[in-house]
Amino acid sequence: MIKYVLFDLDNTLYSARHGLEDSVGKRIVTFVSHYLNIPPEEAMRERKKWITRYSTTLEWLVAEKGLTDIEGYYKTIHPEGEADFLPPDPHLRSFLQSLPIPCAILTNSPREHADRVLRRLGVEDLFTRVFDIRWNRFKGKPAPEVFRRVLDALGTAPDTTLFVDDIPRFVEGYQDLGGKGALLDEHDAYPDFPHRRIRSLREITGLLHSWNAPPAP
Ligand SMILES: [Mg+2]
Repeated sequence: MIKYVLFDLDNTLYSARHGLEDSVGKRIVTFVSHYLNIPPEEAMRERKKWITRYSTTLEWLVAEKGLTDIEGYYKTIHPEGEADFLPPDPHLRSFLQSLPIPCAILTNSPREHADRVLRRLGVEDLFTRVFDIRWNRFKGKPAPEVFRRVLDALGTAPDTTLFVDDIPRFVEGYQDLGGKGALLDEHDAYPDFPHRRIRSLREITGLLHSWNAPPAP
């Protein structure tokens, strides 16, 4: 029985085609390039090389490169107005309202970014909790302790909480805990993903029906 839906934020609640997360990625590369004093192409390569070992670029820079000004980092990569071009999404709003169970958000971004995105989409009042990277003490998905801490706070468990994210290794991390995960694969980029894969958030309704249907008599 699924009792909660835990959503990722970026490229999950809004489409990747809006380019919001790409813009964040470009600002991160520029930051790394300036901070390490290397050309952007090298910054991009370095980030790619290290990112799978850490949950976020910030975690890598703090652990390996001596970064201490965490708030300065966030101010640079998440400037005010960063989400202003994101259109409101009344269909997302009515879809979320149609779900029969409560919803929360788990994001590796800071709260101010999440608030901007949720306000722009017009869904900021539809989540019981928003768990951001500060709440998680700068440790992000897919670390098991992050999922556990969030589920504890919600008073729920992995097998009764559906987690939806657009990053395969995050969904896999959740599955490894015995959780029920679904990969949002908008562009059919991961046909070999070994767990549940959906093309649209609307498919969640069917998932909940199949998992929550009473057993046949
Ligand atoms: Mg995402």
